[in-house]
Amino acid sequence: MFNLILFGPPGSGKGTQSEKLISKYGLKHLSTGDLLRSEIAVQTPLGLAVKSLMAEGKLVPDEIVIEMINSALDNNPHVNGFLFDGFPRTTAQAEALDKLLSQKGTEIALVLALQVRQQELVKRLLSRGRTSERADDVNEDIIAARIAEYEKKTAAVAEHYKEFGKVKYVQGEGSIDDIFNLLCEGIDEKKPA
Ligand code: AMP
Repeated sequence: MFNLILFGPPGSGKGTQSEKLISKYGLKHLSTGDLLRSEIAVQTPLGLAVKSLMAEGKLVPDEIVIEMINSALDNNPHVNGFLFDGFPRTTAQAEALDKLLSQKGTEIALVLALQVRQQELVKRLLSRGRTSERADDVNEDIIAARIAEYEKKTAAVAEHYKEFGKVKYVQGEGSIDDIFNLLCEGIDEKKPA
């Protein structure tokens, strides 16, 4: 299995690039944001419990997302590998993920970290908010809260994987195809042919 984390702040292009990467490399896409939004859409108890936190731009509790990922790993036993998008977002989540993968005899091969300036992130998120249904993209204060959560809790996840020499930084500004090619170069250096 080849397991990849696509890492970066909100608005760095993880969703867009994930779609292209899963189609090229045949990976299973696991986005905790998408999974949580589906729970909200069908109004499950979990969805109702996390709705206001997400609307405020705060992270939902570690136990909830770890359990969602645990089930998703169990439900997809025969894939080539996983692309994690928006997870892990805290050091506790990263440690839990490493443990779950090692129980399955696998590990994270690579963390691709997209780097985008804050002013560009805000511009992209506000623009997405004008066309998407996402409540957390329309208000500049909520966007600022999400970026602050990223700085406070999520940036440390890259440090966790840096210790194992698994992080590759990629410039996340430019054309979608140019960024995609840089990500593919990073993968091809690591991935067995
Ligand atoms: P995203 O679609 O990845 O931007 O996530 C949207 C929102 O879902 C975040 O602002 C959080 O409220 C919540 N969320 C998604 N993934 C996680 C995670 N791994 N840990 C905690 N909260 C998450």
